[in-house]
Parts: sequence; structure tokens; C-alpha cells
Amino acid sequence: MQRVYLDSNATTPILPEVFEAMRPYYLDQFGNASSIHHHGQHARAAVERARESVARLLGCRAAEVVFTSGGTEADNLAIFGIAQPGDHVIASQIEHHAVLNTCKRLEKRGVEVTYLRVDGEGLVDPDEARKALRPKTKLISIMMANNETGVIEPVEEIGRIAAAADVYFHTDAVQAAGKIPIDVKKIGCDLLSISAHKFHGPQGIGALYVRRGTLIDPLFYGGNHERQRRAGTENLPGIIGLGCAAEIALRGLQNGDMTRVAKMHDRLESTLLEQIDEAGVNSGAAPRVPNTSNIYFDHIEGEAMVIALDLKGLAVSTGAACSSGAIEPSHVLTAMGLPPERARASIRFSVGKHNTEDDIDFALSVIPATIARLRELSPTYTR
Ligand code: PLP
Repeated sequence: MQRVYLDSNATTPILPEVFEAMRPYYLDQFGNASSIHHHGQHARAAVERARESVARLLGCRAAEVVFTSGGTEADNLAIFGIAQPGDHVIASQIEHHAVLNTCKRLEKRGVEVTYLRVDGEGLVDPDEARKALRPKTKLISIMMANNETGVIEPVEEIGRIAAAADVYFHTDAVQAAGKIPIDVKKIGCDLLSISAHKFHGPQGIGALYVRRGTLIDPLFYGGNHERQRRAGTENLPGIIGLGCAAEIALRGLQNGDMTRVAKMHDRLESTLLEQIDEAGVNSGAAPRVPNTSNIYFDHIEGEAMVIALDLKGLAVSTGAACSSGAIEPSHVLTAMGLPPERARASIRFSVGKHNTEDDIDFALSVIPATIARLRELSPTYTR
């Protein structure tokens, strides 16, 4: 059975080159990067080379890169690392749960949090961030690109506002890395999170950029690893994989890989809209990363659609979360003002470098027919 994967915002397949770069570090080139003998020195040198590669992707110094277990830990480290009881933090309502639930936890620890609203396209208004500032504001955390809609937030403007107010600025760039250029200096952020598995690296490894001079409290206590910012023996193969994926991502941005992805994505989106009535792109008028489309198909249930498409061999997703047995509409689409039925009728398609035009043909051969069949069962669809 043919299987096509259009869910790259969930995770991406590891590139063979990345896997091959990691392989020796599971086998004969093992070593603890803290050991002083040959094995340790070899591991240390490899870790530091990978750090340089990540720094090049982000436009920062190698010493400003802290390896973490992924995007979730990077977000937690940034936020718990800066905010203390009595502080005020500003985030948006459409952050990933790695940020939102960290902020909720902060509230229990005596930190006040303002969750900024977004407009109908899912954009944060920088002016709202400015207005939310208080004397006690310590940190602003606004994502660079949204995982559900692909919307690119005005992070450079927010960075300027944070700098002018002398407030730390964190941005979750997990969905931006590899898809659009990142330059921490242009963004003006103090902290920025990335995760390897979103750009064809391994799962379970990521990094936090911590601007030089920014003091963060570690999440873990132990050895002096990562300049005392993240205790624990380094995940050597993971770090090598992240470094290799970062190099390939940077080259890809320069060599037009994302232009090819954008072309496939644009054809998928425009053909679906041409062929299917009562459908539209959520955040269609906002700037978006080139691979993501979040489309509502009125009169269907997104979950039913994901299952029906999976049975035909196509992997896509909804932003909905199943909590306590009930399907909750996406917090991102709800914050944008979509009625719950439309939020539940929305599907995310996210294209990756591994996809081909044939994959898009396959998707286009199954989606319209599946929607038509599901709509036949819908009491609200009367055409
Ligand atoms: N932030 C965003 C925007 C994400 O999309 C994700 C993953 O879905 C994360 C954070 C969490 O990253 P990880 O899966 O590496 O923990």
C-alpha cells in the first residue's frame, strides 16, 4: 500500500546522511565528552563541532548554544530559567503547550502571566505586547512560527519592544528552524528554542540559544555540563545528529530546498481550494512558513477525516487534542475566533523535503473523494 506522509510539523524522517553521521557515535566512537582520555576528547571535539553547526544555523556564537532533550526542554529551560516568583511574564494564547503549560505552572509559583490575544489570522499585535508591559515584566515569550497554522509572528518588532523595555525575549523557533532563515541578532531575542526532529534530525535532542550574559537557572542539578546550564552527560549521537541536520538545513535554505517544498505545498493548497467547496485556509492572509496549510472543510469532523485518510495511506493531522475522552477544538484556532465546529473541521497538511510531486498527486487523488464521502454522512451538508 502506498503511504504518503504530509505531517512534517509533527516530526520529519531523519535524513540518511544524518543517520550515517550518528552511527559511529553509537559504536566504536562512543565516549563521555567529560572524560579526559582519548575517547572523551574525541567525543568532546565532536560535540563542539556540532555546537558550531547549530550556531551557524542560528547566527550566534557556539558558546551561546545549550543542548537539551528537545524543544519542550528548551522552552522549559528558557521560561523557568528566567521567571521568578513575583515576576510578570507575557506570552500569547497560541503558544505550543511546551510554553503554555510552563506558564500555567509559573502561575502556581507566584508569577503573573498575560496571555496575548491574536487576530483572526493568528497574528500577535506587537502593540498589545507593549501595552501589556508592567514594571515587573521579566520575560516575553512569543513563538516565531506556529505549529498548527504556520503563521510567522512579528518577532523582530517584539524583540525591539522587549529590548526597549529591558525585558528578556524568548522565542520558540521549533517550527521555524530549517523552514525560514533564523538570525538571533535580527530577531533581537535573548533565548530561542529549536528541536532536531522538526528538520530531519533525530527525536529527543534540541537546543536553546542563550544570549551571552543571560543568567538562567538550570532545570536540573548535577555536573557542570553545558557551562552549568544543563547538567547531565551529553547525548552524543543525538548532538551529532542535530549538528548534521543543522548544516543540511542551512545549506537547504541557501540552495532552494524550501522553494521546492513551497511549490509542492502551494499546488496542494490551491488545488484543494479549487476542487472542494465550503473550504478555506486558516491564516491564509498571514505570512506563513512555506510548508504548512491549515484548511477547514466545513461539515466534516477533522478526526474522522484523519482516520479515513490514514486508511487510504495519507498521514495528516488535526490540531485538536483528545483530553478526557472528548475532542477539544484546537486552542490556536479557537483563539483566532473560529467557531468550534470550524476548528474541529480543520486539517493540517505539512510538507517536507522528503516529499515529491507524486506525493502531492496522491494526496490530491484521495482528499476530495474522502471529503465528499464524509459530507454525505453529515446532516448539515445540503448540497
Ligand atoms: N514548540 C513547538 C512550536 C512545537 O511544534 C513543538 C513540537 O511539536 C515543541 C515546541 C516541542 O518540541 P519537542 O517535540 O522537541 O519536545
